Amino acid sequence: SKVGSGQRVAVDEDENRDRAARSLLDIRDLAIAYPRPDGKLNEVVRGVSLAVQRGKVMGLVGESGSGKSQTAFATLGVLPNEAVIVRGSILFDGEELVGLTDAQMRPLRGKAIAYIPQEPMSNLDPSFKVGSQLVEGVRSALGISKKEAKERVLALLKRVGINDPERTFDSYPHQISGGMAQRVLIAGAVASRPKLLIADEPTTALDVTVQAEILDLLRDLQSELDMAVLLVTHNFGVVADVCDQIAVMRQGEIVEQGDIEQIFDHPQHEYTKMLLNAIL
Ligand code: ADP
Ligand code: MG
Repeated sequence: SKVGSGQRVAVDEDENRDRAARSLLDIRDLAIAYPRPDGKLNEVVRGVSLAVQRGKVMGLVGESGSGKSQTAFATLGVLPNEAVIVRGSILFDGEELVGLTDAQMRPLRGKAIAYIPQEPMSNLDPSFKVGSQLVEGVRSALGISKKEAKERVLALLKRVGINDPERTFDSYPHQISGGMAQRVLIAGAVASRPKLLIADEPTTALDVTVQAEILDLLRDLQSELDMAVLLVTHNFGVVADVCDQIAVMRQGEIVEQGDIEQIFDHPQHEYTKMLLNAIL
């Protein structure tokens, strides 16, 4: 069913229930476009269908510019104002997200759906201490007191591998490394015990040695908290160790998706074969 921008997709409620029973996140035929200078729409995501199972890690892989982040942003409800969802459905835990207003999206974002960005520093305010920023997020996500939130943040900092949580809590962002900052953001993201964590290139900005540690941490937390993860990356090597399933994206479309073993052992699409040859 084709819809205009901002319109809710009319879908059958029984069908939504079936889809929600099968997958936590079920994206169907999603198309996202930007207006060109001539006024015509340029579709940068073109008919993406993608399912993330409860408690599983789905890798969304493809080269830069293929539309991975746009797909992630649509799911988080943070597409830029000029973007148009041309058609499609994003069902999260039985709820249609396409057409929700920012106010309707707010109870989900940062709570049931958490996010970690590519550039950890860009998501920390340089003028406030790390701890106070986390406490604010945790307070608003969980509706607990400042004191409880601080205790929770300190425990989480420890859990994500920060040796001296008190010290990191009292540091300004410029006083910690990029890897530490990403650990801090992961702590903030999982504080609300999200059902889905969207990680967009979470290791791309980090040193190679730190990358593996962060991926290990994500995998550990994923199984510990039984959360689903949508791991967005241009790096096929990253998905190999971490993902249960992958979807391969190219020029706005998904060319192939399935269980990781199946795709690594029997890639169907020439593009997937080419990507695999580059890492094997
Ligand atoms: P990826 O995350 O896979 O690298 P993106 O989802 O960021 O790719 O981008 C997909 C396409 O959408 C790119 O061609 C990019 O140029 C285009 N795009 C992204 N943001 C905008 C925007 N604000 N206006 C116009 N085009 C955009
Ligand atoms: Mg991107």
